[in-house]
Amino acid sequence: MARVLFINVGSEGHINPTIGVVQELISRGEEVVYFTIEAFRERMEKTGASVRTIDGDKFIKAFISGGRNYLFERINGLLRTADVVIPDVLKQIEGEHFDYIIHDSMFGCGYLLAQILKLPAINSCTSFAQTKASFENMLERLSKNIPTEIYDEFQKLTAMIKEKYDVEIASPYEVFCNPAPMTIVYTTREFQPFGETFDQSYKFVGPSISSRLTQEEFDLTAIKGRSPIYISLGTVFNRAMDFYKLCFEAFGNSDHTVVMTIGKQNQIADLGEIPQNFIVKNYVPQTELLKYTKLFITHGGMNSTNEGLYNGVPLIVIPQSADQPMIAQRVSHIGAGIQLNMQSLTAEQLRETAEQILNNQSFLKAVGDISQSFQQSGGYQQAVEEIFEFKSKNDI
Ligand code: UDP
Repeated sequence: MARVLFINVGSEGHINPTIGVVQELISRGEEVVYFTIEAFRERMEKTGASVRTIDGDKFIKAFISGGRNYLFERINGLLRTADVVIPDVLKQIEGEHFDYIIHDSMFGCGYLLAQILKLPAINSCTSFAQTKASFENMLERLSKNIPTEIYDEFQKLTAMIKEKYDVEIASPYEVFCNPAPMTIVYTTREFQPFGETFDQSYKFVGPSISSRLTQEEFDLTAIKGRSPIYISLGTVFNRAMDFYKLCFEAFGNSDHTVVMTIGKQNQIADLGEIPQNFIVKNYVPQTELLKYTKLFITHGGMNSTNEGLYNGVPLIVIPQSADQPMIAQRVSHIGAGIQLNMQSLTAEQLRETAEQILNNQSFLKAVGDISQSFQQSGGYQQAVEEIFEFKSKNDI
């Protein structure tokens, strides 16, 4: 049995794929200490992990204070979270021994903590992976004509981190992608763009889908046998009341049963009258629902996309932010769905695109192929196989 330090301070999309991994690790005898924010305490405690929390409000504030206009500002934002995460984690684990660390690929300063603690490290990547070269290309493309103060800020923050924690940050890549000797990616090499360019330290284990261990109130009998259309913009970029109303206009009082989740930040009452063929909730058990869904209208979050395709559901992807445009492009590239643009979207276009997908076997065929490869990929069980192999190579 080994003691694992798991650092994952992110949102739902960063947490969910790790649930199965942690449960499986524990069932194979590992002891897991899992750092997250209070909102995910209950969910992670049910896995059997010992959960410790850091202050989520302070974390978000520090991240956002880096600026939001440029990718480079987000990198600075991530560096600013170091002072929220690192001293707190170090204090909470003082005097304890850990054998290895697993950390998120983006949030929680995992790369820095691994260096400080000198622990063998595994990166948990819940989006598409990036090689150093592909990341640096993207950063260069997105950094044309940015104010020089942003670079100065990066230099200042990395110098501060070096002085306080005695760790070097060689480049923005270490901050944004948190590289490690092994990276678990929760999709397949086939779905990953340029999958063949990743070396063997990247383990493409496929979607990690397990029971969420939460009790959402949703009566599945209401939709069984009715093959609903399911609509969700995920848990982060979902403040889009106009979009939800547009969905009413597109599908209201049609023959389709529609389930729509609008997120916990929005009030259902603000939507006005709800068409009788719609079921609207703040949160639904998505992975359960997708088993019965005929079409998923999604923002293209990595998890939602993986979960939809895993269940053989074609997608309309309407990306909102972050990595979603890249994911949307990938979905349309493999023929598993169609990408639409939020800004120019009309109810008529949404309705017609839905009919186009539902009446065209080619989408189902493409989705069937990717679904099969996802289901064969092993998911969290494969992830834990890889972790145990990593342990034996590192004499843990
Ligand atoms: N989710 C859910 N019920 C909801 C909305 C979202 O279970 O009503 C889950 C979904 O299954 C997925 C995660 O929340 O695992 C959202 O992650 P994703 O990467 O798709 O998007 P994000 O929320 O990070 O934008």
